[in-house]
Amino acid sequence: MRTLISDWQMPRPGRNCTACTRAFEADEVFAARLYETPGGYERRDYCQSCTPAAEPGLVGAWKARRTAPTTKSAAPFDREVIYRFFLRLEGDERPAQVQFRFLLALLLWRKKVLKFMRAVTVADREQWEFGAAGAEETHRVVHPELDEAELERLSGQLEQLLTGGPDVLELPAVVEERADG
Ligand SMILES: [Zn+2]
Repeated sequence: MRTLISDWQMPRPGRNCTACTRAFEADEVFAARLYETPGGYERRDYCQSCTPAAEPGLVGAWKARRTAPTTKSAAPFDREVIYRFFLRLEGDERPAQVQFRFLLALLLWRKKVLKFMRAVTVADREQWEFGAAGAEETHRVVHPELDEAELERLSGQLEQLLTGGPDVLELPAVVEERADG
């Protein structure tokens, strides 16, 4: 699998609870959260006994399940789940969510779920149009104000965080609460 960055030093996601540091057991369901930080994206996983701390920069949350350690196969990229994640961010104007949605679109494009069609400018903002493979609809995605190198870096980070663990993504829920302040 192609990864865009090689210097990602975070512990592999989906192994331990961020709060109590307990290692997840096989088949254990836990909550995964993705934050935007000055250094890029950061993922934190929480067991069901621990409450995630209210921290700013939350861009997404989903449930994940630790797969059995005997499972040899790499974590599958769950196209369907990440596509739904992408769809639920439509119309969300918050900058962190706009950026996150664009990166999800890049990820889905790379995985051939979305197809890039064209770049358009709407109300002075660059937007990229994507078509969904095998469907009629198109999606407009606001291009965040970041340079290509930064987008590439964040995109690689995001791919590792969403797909790099031995866990399986389940039941994604874009967080509704607002990180005000
Ligand atoms: Zn815990």
